[in-house]
Amino acid sequence: MSFDNFVRFAYGREPEEFEPTEEPGYWQTREPCGGLDGGCREPIHRVLFCESGTRHTIQYRDPRRGPGGRWQSPYLTWAQARAAFTRHPAKASGQ
Ligand SMILES: [Zn+2]
Repeated sequence: MSFDNFVRFAYGREPEEFEPTEEPGYWQTREPCGGLDGGCREPIHRVLFCESGTRHTIQYRDPRRGPGGRWQSPYLTWAQARAAFTRHPAKASGQ
């Protein structure tokens, strides 16, 4: 599953809301959330309740076999996104 589809299906969010962190396979939200009071529905707020200003983190890894069944790095998408992000921080999210 592509990064874009993963974000939509698993989190119900748009890929543009995330930027790649320095850590391979991890993205974080570009903007701090408003907490429960701000309408954020991330499960972490069930523990941290009204905590706002959180930049939520997600993990994504590519399927280990790519086209043709070859083994590939699980961090290909992250590496591409990170390279693009380093060049143009405002734009890059997925690929
Ligand atoms: Zn939140």
